Amino acid sequence: MMEISRLYKSELKDIFSERNEPSFRAKQLFEWLHGKRVSDFSQMTNLPASTRSWLASEYTITRAECIRRQRSSDGTEKYLLSFADGNCVETVAMLYEHGLSVCVSTQVGCRMGCRFCASTQNGLVRSLTAGEMLAEVYAASDLYGMPVDSVVLMGIGEPLDNFDEVMRFYDILTDADGYGMKNRSVTLSTCGIIPEIMRLASLKKQLTLSISLHAAFPEKRSSIMPVNLRYPLEDLIPACRRYVEITGRRISFEYTVIHGFNDGEDDAEKLAELVRGFQSHVNVIPVNEAGRGDFRATRKQAESFAEKLSARGVNATVRRTLGNDISAACGQLRRDTVN
Ligand code: SF4
Repeated sequence: MMEISRLYKSELKDIFSERNEPSFRAKQLFEWLHGKRVSDFSQMTNLPASTRSWLASEYTITRAECIRRQRSSDGTEKYLLSFADGNCVETVAMLYEHGLSVCVSTQVGCRMGCRFCASTQNGLVRSLTAGEMLAEVYAASDLYGMPVDSVVLMGIGEPLDNFDEVMRFYDILTDADGYGMKNRSVTLSTCGIIPEIMRLASLKKQLTLSISLHAAFPEKRSSIMPVNLRYPLEDLIPACRRYVEITGRRISFEYTVIHGFNDGEDDAEKLAELVRGFQSHVNVIPVNEAGRGDFRATRKQAESFAEKLSARGVNATVRRTLGNDISAACGQLRRDTVN
């Protein structure tokens, strides 16, 4: 059985044309899948019964089942969602002034090996399909009881290690005949896979690209993010500049403050040197205390580092951290349940 939820409208048209059925049915089907978000072909009442019948015998509609749910005192909700093969990922719903934001996982596990991250401890199991990532957004919307206004691809997995399915996810999510999310309401966060950053630039999508930097000195970055050995900072920063030139979009840098490790004056100076001179913004984040035990930072320490950056002319803010009381370190809930 094939998954129908990951198909573009154009691919649905091809399916109908092979069956000698009118192509407008592709739009109707797409609306049912991603606009009205029904879970059964039998509910698609404007499609003929014979069409619904062959669709149901050949295709599946992807759904995510919530097997654990946590709610933080600040309203953030974290869901452990399970797919048809029993694999599960975490999805987080966060309520901001501008609406509901959902943090979507792109892979089951991750092979990038960042030392501060719980998601990578058992490596990569598999990548998610676009249909499964869409199912995360739809499940979060249903569970939280609100439409989703923005999506951050910052959950479990490295989105650019699953490039094609993530692009499908973005295109389908932002299609006006489907969920209709605004193009600019999606943020993709990467640890810095340079060839895929350049591939993304060439597509000129309107999403926001966010780079997890976490250290400005090469050796320091390599010690917490092994990806730096393969795609070093000295190549990553020029690639970011190029991305901004090609797309005209500002880049965000994520910088998790680990007190005593990457928040000194020299770190601020080096970071300012890297990100100056092109449209960029630095999000400073205090390392989540639910992560690995040896990494610590308070909000105050993060604020103090952001001030050091601002004093050097860098556009920097401290991100509001939500869900601290529900072990919000990415990958923690899945690890606790799976192991
Ligand atoms: S931080 Fe992101 S890229 Fe790094 S190991 Fe964790 S999930 Fe993978």
